[in-house]
Amino acid sequence: MPSPRPSIRPPLEPPLDPVHALRRIAFLMERRLEDSYRIKAYRGAVAALLSCAPGEVEERARAGTLKELSGIGAKTASVVTDCVEGRVPETLAKLEERAGPLAPGGGDVRAALRGDLHTHSDWSDGGSPIEEMVMTASEVGHEYVVLTDHSPRLTVANGLSVARLRRQKEVVAAVNEHLGDATDGGIRLLHGIEVDILDDGALDQTDEMLAGLDVVVASVHSKLKMEPRAMTRRMVAAVRHPETNVLGHCTGRLIMGGRGTRPQSQFDADAVFAACAEEAVAVEINSRPERRDPPDELIAKALDAGCLFSVDSDAHAPGQLDFLTYGAERVEELGIPLDRVVNTWPLDRLLAWAGGASR
Ligand SMILES: [Zn+2]
Ligand SMILES: [Zn+2]
Repeated sequence: MPSPRPSIRPPLEPPLDPVHALRRIAFLMERRLEDSYRIKAYRGAVAALLSCAPGEVEERARAGTLKELSGIGAKTASVVTDCVEGRVPETLAKLEERAGPLAPGGGDVRAALRGDLHTHSDWSDGGSPIEEMVMTASEVGHEYVVLTDHSPRLTVANGLSVARLRRQKEVVAAVNEHLGDATDGGIRLLHGIEVDILDDGALDQTDEMLAGLDVVVASVHSKLKMEPRAMTRRMVAAVRHPETNVLGHCTGRLIMGGRGTRPQSQFDADAVFAACAEEAVAVEINSRPERRDPPDELIAKALDAGCLFSVDSDAHAPGQLDFLTYGAERVEELGIPLDRVVNTWPLDRLLAWAGGASR
């Protein structure tokens, strides 16, 4: 058994570093899906502080001139001032009271998860830069995290063209260079994609680009009400694509949240999961609370079919990386053997699988 890793860092004690405090507040709000506009103020304040000269933050806190900095408002200025003067900001203290695990169960499964195969940055529709996602992934105990921004046709989510995906690859390489040696307890950022499954089952990115990525998550985002036989053909074709590693949120359902609810799409689950099992494509257990996808009965079918699984956060903000706890609880409840969950595997095994070695 791997050693248990905390899902979040222990509570902070004064004196607090203002940047840590603001990041922590944002993290704790994000994982509870609180108002993104308010969260943005805390993330923006972090950026403002990081651009200050040494000593400037403390000086401004004492002089009461923090609000002169662009990106700092009344609320964030008071958080910074509290930190500088040795107090725990009240906002943080309140959030820390509810900072325990997001779900009561699944602790052992969560501790066994080494990484996350489905996350977004501000290159597509996520809210934070790649570096902040990686830093937080490291803080929640991950050994690896896969960046999977959207593909070109998902224009509403600012999907990445070939040229932008190429540029992103360079950024991922540069971030890893700064992170140093992953074998020495560090985190490794992997480059992936959440590629759209087009109407005919083709994938929305060139084969050449897909082949150059570490992990490919394929998901349906359009025409979710397609007639069941056509939807089955579409999904099976995507699963059979040699570069597909994970079938993302397979039913597309939404069970709560700001976007409203949406029924699951209809398809022949036996046929789709048989293809997943044959191709060693993992069925994603999407941990987002508004998705909780697939539903229990479909996970049971996938289990019977011999499928692999991937418990993913589908995080669009750093704090949402903590959603894995919800998925871990379901893995425990549904009795999925941990060895069938690909993100319990060590990095080298994961990469060998994603690269096709186990096919
Ligand atoms: Zn998606
Ligand atoms: Zn996604």
